[in-house]
Amino acid sequence: MDDNKPVLVWLRRDLRLSDNPALTAAAASGRPVIPVFIADEIVQGLGAAPDWRLKLGVAHFDRVVRQIGGRVLFRGGAAAQVLHQLVAETGAVCVYWNRAYHPDEIARDTDVKSGLKAIGIEAKSFPGNLCFEPWSVAKGSGGAYRVFTPFWKSVRNLNVAAPAPAPKKLRGPGIWPESDDIQTWAARHGMGRGAAVVRPYLSLGEQAAWDRLEMFCEDRLPDYAAARDIPSRPATSGLSEALACGEIGARQIWHRARTLWQDGVAGAETFLKELVWREFAYHLMFHEPHILTRNWRQGWDDFPWNQDEEHPHVTAWKQGRTGIAFVDAAMREMYVTGRMHNRGRMIVASYLSKHLMTDWRIGQHWFADCLTDWDPASNAMGWQWAAGSGPDAAPYFRVFNPDLQLKKFDPEGRYRQAWIAEGDAMPSDTALSYFRAIPRSWHIRAEDTYPVPIVSPQEGRERALAAYQNRSF
Ligand code: FAD
Repeated sequence: MDDNKPVLVWLRRDLRLSDNPALTAAAASGRPVIPVFIADEIVQGLGAAPDWRLKLGVAHFDRVVRQIGGRVLFRGGAAAQVLHQLVAETGAVCVYWNRAYHPDEIARDTDVKSGLKAIGIEAKSFPGNLCFEPWSVAKGSGGAYRVFTPFWKSVRNLNVAAPAPAPKKLRGPGIWPESDDIQTWAARHGMGRGAAVVRPYLSLGEQAAWDRLEMFCEDRLPDYAAARDIPSRPATSGLSEALACGEIGARQIWHRARTLWQDGVAGAETFLKELVWREFAYHLMFHEPHILTRNWRQGWDDFPWNQDEEHPHVTAWKQGRTGIAFVDAAMREMYVTGRMHNRGRMIVASYLSKHLMTDWRIGQHWFADCLTDWDPASNAMGWQWAAGSGPDAAPYFRVFNPDLQLKKFDPEGRYRQAWIAEGDAMPSDTALSYFRAIPRSWHIRAEDTYPVPIVSPQEGRERALAAYQNRSF
């Protein structure tokens, strides 16, 4: 065997050294390892914020990989074409990657695998990005789960593969193939002036994710079950962004939290359940991929939702100018930080789909453009949950009252004050930063009068309930 023929590691959303089975296998092969990130059509199709975040993540990972003797090649183009080209350039005999589960990624990876095998290359995929691969969990009676609680009960005591440590050293090839300039590429993005405002809220890289996990377990976990619903409190892990780029593995978080659960630490079970919601989203996306684009419950297909993305109500929703404080605060939080508290996500999604009777896919796409933690499976599941059209969703007739929700979860008005400047004599810096982030073309100023509700909680609720009558969802 010629050990000098390299192995290519095709990086995707797995920008970490530890618990990276494809990288571990490549390092263990003894061959030179060439990690490559490919900006293919799937990467090019990302919304502005996730695209920007992923590019920063790749550039950061390149710096980390260089510390152990490697580097990350960066190339643009169709994945199959780039990999074949690299095989030809480097004489690589293997291509390894960690599995992805979006239907478009599965189709791409299947093609890539067969194309590489056809020319005699060892093409191998590994499980690394989920605790439970979607096909490994099935109901006792067979088939996929559609309800969370039985899914949780079936997985909570399963064995999850132990994460491998980071390789200490990577053997590089004698000559590195050409790479596009990652830094230049990373600087190209569609975030406009918002980038400078969002940047301080990012937490980049594997080390930062581990620091965050440890801080969370030490300081926040005991109070997590009660405090996770309070949007003004930094009570959750904030790990979704790192999970979305694979800067920490779900299996790593699972093992850390599972040990704490066994030790009886308060909050650990609730936290594990939340992590398993992500697994559930992937389970659903794999088995029922139409959840990404179509009403999961077909009874909604002829519901007269507003489909006009340019409708003034939709514009007001996107711009955080509905006059409903919880909705506006949460939409602004997303614009400034690239993230939104889970309670806020539920409220804004419910308000758009129920009070404004607007198709949930319009909201789903806006989130896909604005969230730095955007995840196709969790986003689609969350939207269909809120709209009532999904599996195990909020009942369609349950219409959150955003004002009562604000009273309950923000009784002292801290969240409101953090994000809404209008009418406040001494607006907070975060509330003002929203006006620095948004495009000038929105023509909104902090000195403006705060708008009256475009649709009041009561009016929206009555209208939605009337529209739901005589329908079977
Ligand atoms: P923590 O409370 O610390 O939870 C730990 C981890 O568990 C999270 O990082 C996440 O991976 C997982 N998790 C927690 N809650 C959920 C949930 N409801 N569904 C799925 N996984 C969950 N999450 C995303 O990661 N990306 C999205 O694009 C996304 N879009 C959403 C859209 C809507 C309409 C809704 C209602 C929810 C969405 N969520 C999404 C789920 C949830 O809001 C976020 O995962 C959570 O707010 C992330 O914050 P955290 O990391 O501090 O969570």
